Amino acid sequence: GKVLVTGANGFIAMWVVRTLLEQGYTVRGTVRSESKGAHLRQVFATYSDKLEILIVEDITKEGAFNEAVQGVDAVEHTASPFHFKADDPDELIVPAVHGTTRVLESVRTHGTSVRRVVVTSSCASVMQLQPEPRVFSEVDWNDAAIAEVRAKGRAAPQPAKYRASKTLAERAAWEFMERNKGSIGFDLVVLNPPYVFGPAIHEVGAPEALNESMHDWFHTVFKGSKTATQLSSVGSSWIDVRDLAEAHTLALKREEAGGERIIVSEGAFMWQDWVNAARVHGANVPAGDESYDHAKAVHSLRYDTSKAARLLGLKYRSIKESAKDMFEDFKARGWV
Ligand code: NDP
Repeated sequence: GKVLVTGANGFIAMWVVRTLLEQGYTVRGTVRSESKGAHLRQVFATYSDKLEILIVEDITKEGAFNEAVQGVDAVEHTASPFHFKADDPDELIVPAVHGTTRVLESVRTHGTSVRRVVVTSSCASVMQLQPEPRVFSEVDWNDAAIAEVRAKGRAAPQPAKYRASKTLAERAAWEFMERNKGSIGFDLVVLNPPYVFGPAIHEVGAPEALNESMHDWFHTVFKGSKTATQLSSVGSSWIDVRDLAEAHTLALKREEAGGERIIVSEGAFMWQDWVNAARVHGANVPAGDESYDHAKAVHSLRYDTSKAARLLGLKYRSIKESAKDMFEDFKARGWV
């Protein structure tokens, strides 16, 4: 089959492209400029007859993906801004929402061969900040982030701006499907990953240029950006980027995944877990909180991942394995 991957040069998308190519798919990747395609061509040089690169300069423009969707069997829509530097929340919301609806509109009008669209949403559109520990599942929606951004505008906290953009984009995708049901020949699968970590194969010249999640990981584990107290009390949930890429291909293959939003997560962590794992592999970083006990850590947010197990049969790399591979990656780059 032939699969369109939007934002193909991104951290996650590069692994999605690689996994698809390794599994025999032909890939058409969109990037915003010719120069952003160069690294893709180089990394996947051995697949030159299986990889096509198309420039979509502005994903928010009407008809943006009309050409891109022609002749493909499925779409993996990953392009969306993920950073904590937006002043106006619309810097995130407009490309997140309109990028998603442009893809779906183009598939409806020009993608007659498309049977499935997979959208990379996020646990950002599932979770809510709350004082008591709580387990979230696919029935939960982060409408609180939307409300907070509507109330506070530019003054809203950065994470709220990003979370609102992801919630609004995913809502827009499901609303599109509802509005057009009966007149379209494809279905939708939404993947909701939490923090995504793992070795980087996208173009990154320096640690400062890492994508948001890996920037956080690198600076926390190797640059001491958090105090010992924070290391053992602050955390999140996570998935290895290679497992998330596998989830993207499983989402194409499993018929029963159609019409579902699916949380994909290995589990919860405190940052101290990553420090400990990196140290086990010989990383020269401060010990942090040596009294930390992984088994006793209380996580305010957890995710029910039974749906992913049932529908995708997804297996996950461990913190230990993933930490080792990131450490090796950074060593090879001469950064640590
Ligand atoms: P990257 O920043 O590495 O990749 C983002 C991709 O989206 C790039 O191809 C980028 O293109 C493109 N993009 C960003 N803004 C725009 C825009 N305004 N117009 C067009 N294209 C744009 O991040 P990730 O790989 O981490 O993110 C990929 C997806 O995964 C996103 O949808 C993100 O929300 C989601 N996600 C990520 C998580 C994580 O922890 N990393 C967690 C959960 C979800 P360019 O290089 O040209 O800017």
